[in-house]
Amino acid sequence: MKFGTKAIHAGVEPDPSTGAIMTPIFQTSTYVQESPAKNKGYGYARGANPTRNALQKSIAALENGKFGLCFSSGMGATDAVIKLLKPGDEVITSNDLYGGSYRMFTKIFQKYGIKFHFIDLTNIENAKALINANTKLLWVETPSNPLMSIIDIKACCDLGKKHNFLVAVDNTFASPYLQNPLDLGADIVMHSVTKYLGGHSDVVMGALVVNDEKLRDELYFILNSCGAVPGPQDSFLVLRGVKTLHLRLERHCFNGRKVAEYLRNHPKVGKVYWPGFPDHPNHEIAKKQMRDFGGMLSFTLKNDSVENAITLMESVELFSLAESLGGVESLINHPASMTHASIPREERIKNGLSDSLIRLSVGVEDYEDLLADLAQALDKSK
Ligand SMILES: *Cc1c(COP(=O)(O)O)cnc(C)c1O
Repeated sequence: MKFGTKAIHAGVEPDPSTGAIMTPIFQTSTYVQESPAKNKGYGYARGANPTRNALQKSIAALENGKFGLCFSSGMGATDAVIKLLKPGDEVITSNDLYGGSYRMFTKIFQKYGIKFHFIDLTNIENAKALINANTKLLWVETPSNPLMSIIDIKACCDLGKKHNFLVAVDNTFASPYLQNPLDLGADIVMHSVTKYLGGHSDVVMGALVVNDEKLRDELYFILNSCGAVPGPQDSFLVLRGVKTLHLRLERHCFNGRKVAEYLRNHPKVGKVYWPGFPDHPNHEIAKKQMRDFGGMLSFTLKNDSVENAITLMESVELFSLAESLGGVESLINHPASMTHASIPREERIKNGLSDSLIRLSVGVEDYEDLLADLAQALDKSK
């Protein structure tokens, strides 16, 4: 089955008791059993819920994977992956990671004796130097936030196979429509479902997809034991959102290109970070592992100051000033004062996040209106 067909049909079957075409919201905490331990696969709702099960099958199918597991947030899903490890184990990951992942790794798991190496993974050679017998996981996020760096997923997976460690890919920015890490050899795909999969800025949820049954069982054990499960209403909302994932992403990509090209030609704009430009440092890898280049991009102003960025952010009317991404509406944010404010300025600049850097999540509105909004806001900035 092709992607759009799976987005609409995978995991969803008419409800056996009524024929309802949409999976109902099974709002229940427990299930009546015929006799002790004799049930229809449902005992208690932390363990399983039919609405959640339908969504798990749907997301697994979109990632060309066998097993899906849904969590109450993207961080809940990431948390479960790190709980596969034990004290003394080492993780290699990139230095421009999602801030919440960085916080969890350093502030929560480091104190349990798990060691994290944060390096520039856009050059895979940097990882090779760190691999040792304790290396158990490579955690990859591509495209990265907010600089849209691209990491070669297949090269990471080949390394994992050779040295016998797991490779997990945070596929949130690409969504399964643009990139399928399991096909490239990854062991685990993670999503903040909150973003493109949900797609309407109304749900917080996470997911993992794997092919290996033993790994699925281990992750399910953690999910059920630790309890970060999503509710049935949220599962329903995402089941509904997923049905238009391919349609939305087509427009996100189209609009993303229009906005990237517009900004690149604007006299007040400095650099535009978008993997679709042929001179993006890893454009060839992006072309190889992604179907298209998505609706996420960042740019700087030639007059590079926090104040100038704030003037622009306060001047936009259609773009909403907000964190998060991947919804139908266009969002704008300023990493230096919002998502990355906790990083000292010197370190932030060293990592390429300049004062005026602005990130856009380009929505699915008519692009002419988006360009007009950026034009009038840029007129007001220096
Ligand atoms: C939002 C996000 C997360 C965290 O997901 P939540 O659903 O907010 O917990 C992880 N990785 C990336 C790339 C994200 O954008």
